[in-house]
Amino acid sequence: MLATPLGNLRDITLRALDILGSADLILAEDTRVSAKLLAHYGIKASLRALHEHNERKSADAVVGLLQQGHSIALISDAGTPAVSDPGARLVAAVRAAALPVVPIPGPCALIAAVSAAGLNAEHFYFAGFLPVQSKARRAQLETLRTLDAALIVYEAPHRVRHTIGDLVQAFPEPRDLVIARELTKAFETVERVPLADAIVWLDAHPDTERGELVLIVDTPATTQKTPRDTASDDATLARWLPALLEELPPARAARVAALATGLPRSEIYDKIKERKP
Ligand code: SAM
Repeated sequence: MLATPLGNLRDITLRALDILGSADLILAEDTRVSAKLLAHYGIKASLRALHEHNERKSADAVVGLLQQGHSIALISDAGTPAVSDPGARLVAAVRAAALPVVPIPGPCALIAAVSAAGLNAEHFYFAGFLPVQSKARRAQLETLRTLDAALIVYEAPHRVRHTIGDLVQAFPEPRDLVIARELTKAFETVERVPLADAIVWLDAHPDTERGELVLIVDTPATTQKTPRDTASDDATLARWLPALLEELPPARAARVAALATGLPRSEIYDKIKERKP
């Protein structure tokens, strides 16, 4: 499992080049894309396609070759295999055959985006690609809206407007959206805008709807951990929670109380669960 560049061909480790140069076989998502990378480094290798449509079927043959002692590298078009890319099923099959799987770490778009985002959040949740269908996407966002973590999604450029619209709907409280676009490439940008203004921002930056991008919805700045007066927090919650719970289901009550007090939503939710019925 070998990570390859997201765009800038120099983003590849020395170890990755050694392994690509010595592997008996390289399995690639799209052999035309990977052939360019290999040519850039003067690596002559035997390339075979392994993509989402043949991954399951190819697993037995790959396991057979490994059992015969062949060394095989798996790469995707860009970044880390098995991260929103083919690879996980093959890895499962190889591991099930008690053969070793070695990760060769390197570029990954979500990690690059997080590193440049300046997040408030201490934690993040990577949702990969949200469902394409609007109803399913909104349903998934509904399950994610109470997370006390930044939400990271991959998206295709032609769907970004639609998806940002859904994110605006799903997160009505003030949050920032980070748009990390064309990472490691000539027109790389990492922008941070209030989520509520994101569609207006998009109108002013039409290039955003071209090229590859990662979207991150940060947690509100108020959920940052700062020294707190715990006694006064408890008193505030004791005053407000019963009334909120009269009107709202627990998850929503926790969300409103988090907005009002600046306390982490998960902490309030835990307190709600601890309450006697
Ligand atoms: N396995 C890859 C990784 O490690 O990040 C992800 C592959 S996934 C099929 C492709 C998605 O990754 C794109 O739609 C985009 O969301 C993100 N992505 C890939 N390259 C990117 C780049 N250079 N800049 C921003 N996002 C990128």
